[in-house]
Amino acid sequence: MTLLSIARLSKSFDGVQAVDDVSFDLEAGQLLALIGPNGAGKSTCFNMINGQLKPGAGTIRFDGHDIAGMRPRNIWRLGVGRTFQIAATFNSMTVLENMQMALLSRERRIYRLFGRAASCGKDEAMTLLDLVGMTAHAQRSCAVLAYGDVKRVELAIALANNPKLLLMDEPTAGMAPQERNELMALTARLAKERNIGVLFTEHSMDVVFSHADKLVVLARGRLIAEGDAEAIRNDARVREVYLGTGASFAPRAGATL
Ligand code: ADP
Ligand code: MG
Repeated sequence: MTLLSIARLSKSFDGVQAVDDVSFDLEAGQLLALIGPNGAGKSTCFNMINGQLKPGAGTIRFDGHDIAGMRPRNIWRLGVGRTFQIAATFNSMTVLENMQMALLSRERRIYRLFGRAASCGKDEAMTLLDLVGMTAHAQRSCAVLAYGDVKRVELAIALANNPKLLLMDEPTAGMAPQERNELMALTARLAKERNIGVLFTEHSMDVVFSHADKLVVLARGRLIAEGDAEAIRNDARVREVYLGTGASFAPRAGATL
């Protein structure tokens, strides 16, 4: 069964058509990159899927549920996770403490649902840190971590809820090219191992072409192309939107999508 099915999704803000009749599907275990120039409507799509924005029109089916217009918390409960930046206030805590906080928040949900307190143990926190290769840093304060390592912890926190779908809006913002590649390679490996569908945005063409199974290209709210890296690389409309007709699609120095 298709994990996420978006059909004819639209949203406008004061006459600006931010997302215009967009449809695409995402399978479990698949990494789908939503790309497009700034203002294309990527974040608006994300925010409709995670429940922060109500769609103007269209349907969002996730794992057999129609989630369009549902509250963020209820969507999260169904298994839609997202990465959050570790807030400055949590920087003073250790990596392990941050993980335990994330688990605690999940356990409160279980408590409410089933009326029992489950343990939010150190073991599970360490298991999650192991997944992202951060056990050696467990006792360090988040404030002293390298930026790429903070991003790994954020990924581990997002995995604490066992999501079926993970939404990552610009997960590699501010990272150096090699760190970007490493984070997305790790995400791709975990997505395959745990059969998680991942929807992400990313500005580096290099990263997108290396790690996405499928790309959806938006421009001014409309879906202009969809396919694998090869298809997108050779798509005339995509070339036109990004680089001008006839230009090479090889990344220019510092080129971003
Ligand atoms: P992207 O993430 O692709 O850069 P966005 O989804 O953030 O694009 O924005 C798409 C369009 O919608 C832009 O023209 C943006 O200015 C507009 N927009 C986004 N959010 C709002 C909002 N809350 N209020 C008004 N306009 C918005
Ligand atoms: Mg955005």
